[in-house]
Amino acid sequence: MKKLFTLFVFAFFSVLSFSQTKSPSEFLGYELGEQFTYHHRVVDYFSHIAEENPEKIKLIEYGRTYENRPLLYAIITSEDNLKNIEKIKTRNIERVNTGSTSANNSDPAIVWLSYNVHGNEANSTEASMKTAYKLVTGGPESTELLDNTVVIIDPCLNPDGRDRYVHWYKQVANNKPDVDPIGREHHEPWPGGRQNHYLFDLNRDWAWVTQIESKQRLKVYNEWMPQIHVDFHEQSHTSPYYFAPAAEPFHELISDWQREFQIQIGKNNATSFDEKGWLYFTKERFDLLYPSYGDTYPMFSGSIGMTYEQAGHSFAGLGIKLPGGDTLTLKDRLEHHFTSGISTIRTAAENRQDLLNNFSEYFNSSRKNPGKYRSFVISKDNNPKKVEDMLKILDAHNIIYGKAGINKSFKGYDYSTINEQTIEVNEDDIVVPVDQPKSVLTRVLLEPKTKLADSITYDITSWSLFHAYGLQASAVTSSISIKNEKLNDESQLLPDENAYSYAIPFQGLRSHRFLAQCLTQNIKVHLATEPFSTNENKFKRGTLIITGSLNRSTVVDFYNKLMDITKETDVDIYSISSGFASSGPDFGSASYRLIEKPEIALLSGKDTSPLSFGENWYYFEQLVSYQPHVVRPNYFDEDYMNEVNTIILPHGRYSGISEEKIKKLEDWVRSGGKLILIGGSIDKLNPEKTELALEKTNSGKKEEENTETYNYKTRVRSYGRSERNALKNYTAGAILDYSLDDTHPLAFGLGSSYRGLKTNNNTYKLLKNGWNVGYLENNSVVDGFVGVNLKQDLEGSLGFATKNLGEGKVIYLIDNPLLRCFWYEGLILYGNAVFY
Ligand SMILES: [Zn+2]
Repeated sequence: MKKLFTLFVFAFFSVLSFSQTKSPSEFLGYELGEQFTYHHRVVDYFSHIAEENPEKIKLIEYGRTYENRPLLYAIITSEDNLKNIEKIKTRNIERVNTGSTSANNSDPAIVWLSYNVHGNEANSTEASMKTAYKLVTGGPESTELLDNTVVIIDPCLNPDGRDRYVHWYKQVANNKPDVDPIGREHHEPWPGGRQNHYLFDLNRDWAWVTQIESKQRLKVYNEWMPQIHVDFHEQSHTSPYYFAPAAEPFHELISDWQREFQIQIGKNNATSFDEKGWLYFTKERFDLLYPSYGDTYPMFSGSIGMTYEQAGHSFAGLGIKLPGGDTLTLKDRLEHHFTSGISTIRTAAENRQDLLNNFSEYFNSSRKNPGKYRSFVISKDNNPKKVEDMLKILDAHNIIYGKAGINKSFKGYDYSTINEQTIEVNEDDIVVPVDQPKSVLTRVLLEPKTKLADSITYDITSWSLFHAYGLQASAVTSSISIKNEKLNDESQLLPDENAYSYAIPFQGLRSHRFLAQCLTQNIKVHLATEPFSTNENKFKRGTLIITGSLNRSTVVDFYNKLMDITKETDVDIYSISSGFASSGPDFGSASYRLIEKPEIALLSGKDTSPLSFGENWYYFEQLVSYQPHVVRPNYFDEDYMNEVNTIILPHGRYSGISEEKIKKLEDWVRSGGKLILIGGSIDKLNPEKTELALEKTNSGKKEEENTETYNYKTRVRSYGRSERNALKNYTAGAILDYSLDDTHPLAFGLGSSYRGLKTNNNTYKLLKNGWNVGYLENNSVVDGFVGVNLKQDLEGSLGFATKNLGEGKVIYLIDNPLLRCFWYEGLILYGNAVFY
């Protein structure tokens, strides 16, 4: 009887527990689409369905955002699959590592759905709840899907950005949504919710892994390695829905199978949309080249990576009137994302075995067809700390490397000379073999040249990490087997307590982090502007010097503080026993310049680009751990300017900056301030009005204007080719080689040339009275697309410079060196501008 009773109770609660799974509407208290849902409520809802259905769904918190919101993914699959989930996962990684097909007959395919990477494309997360609910409770149809797939749902990749948008919207929206575009609820204020806390675009960060969300996501993504990855977005409210197949240019390493399967998914999505009569487009606008997106990154990791775009975006609110008179509502928007999501899972389920076989084959064939270069080699002569920093990126992608272990010559490509030549490999060089599971991603991130099938692309067209890190490296045509996969950590060099002074030679970004923390602790630091030697060591320009006698009496607990900073920043620090240099200036010489502690005002607000402002903010807080004052646009109207000695204007449009404000800024510089101008902030300055301005080149445009004789042929233009013609003056981003004055502090640590990214078409003349530290000579394009007219304009144009004005100084950084904070050499240049 007792047994029967237990059984009865069990059955009763099983039924009860099933019936307790609430729909999103029941749980949240409103119909999905009637309101935007705060992120914490989305978390609550996923927790609810996971608690009620532990046999089908497992919820995992994989990290936290900068604002401490949880990052989650839900594994949703059949009861049988979930019981065996660890084995399924292990067998899938076997496919990646060995190309094994042994489990392909029985295993489910893995489909990963990523929602709301752009925070103000806020429909996506709403759709994720509907999709999860349908999968868990959807009856026989869902059962069939879940028998054949493991669906991973990340309901929100960017919770901080999403809540920024949702909070704002709820505060300003009318009770009954104002569907007229003039309503304020359609006009999100600066900076908008698209980006994360530091205003980084997380859909540009997959490959560079700079942000906390990407770092944590990449770890779990690489544990799973799905066969399909969908990144759900929203675009302009007037566009129809977009899904795969993607637009050209495709990267050349995208396989035929990946192209074909994109088409198959696209056609199935099309059938679902046709049934409802919804509009959509494919094959346009969204290309597959730049490797740091949520579609390309999975593509280069063997998946079918796709972007889906619904009309809407922050502009659409809960409802918006369309040009044809219809109204687009949040309910419509989420229905579309729900439909494409389920359709994609269905395509995966129906083609499960084909998907798995081709996935295995992808890893086989990418290793069998390594292309021209078989090994990438990083010279042992590089700064070891810089190499260490670069290898962290490879680690994040599970890319394997090790020591060469042989001394031998090979044929190959040298990244410094950008030429094919004989490469002398040393046993202590680091080799990244192409023959490895992440073969394709390795090639994409390190390849010397990016092949462009089409020059219309809306992102940078070249990105090799060796240029980004300014490393001496090569790509060789032979396979070099690596000696050991992980390198030995060398122990850190720590100094004597009673040394005369301490020398910290250039060690990449961490030199600036070290310096920033010393300045915060009021430790006095000098900058060696000339090379010098002691009996034991030679030091280059840019070495930091800390003299004991200048600090011991003024800084409490000086030595311990110095050691804490040294350990935290992991720099090598050398003890110096005497002020007498064996060559070069002695330590009392004026060649050692006392570094002034920068008191920084960093401009934020609508004149600045949120991305560029965010990069500056992130640089200070996270990369060098130094506190700037973030100031508002009306800062110049108030009397705070004299409280700082450094003002930074990020890249931006500066439409709101008046002549009067510029005059104030100029006066402030003349009285001794340091002004750092980035990108568009330079463009706004008129040389006829202020001495802060630079003079533009633009020879191409002038020639056109000067043509006086009428020639009808020059005025005939093809309307259909207008987009292509515009490319002549355009670059989305290419790598250029700047000649460098390496005796100037702005260039310390960069060597005799600087490979940087050019991402705009502004070109300026070299300064007559100033230091033209980095400039372009002829044939400066290392790799990537630059339009023919722009190429002409580049010759003899300025990259970065400084000018003294009165008592103060202006620093010009024409191409934003902080772009996405992944161009390591740019971070060095920027640190020099701020601190030296
Ligand atoms: Zn988007």
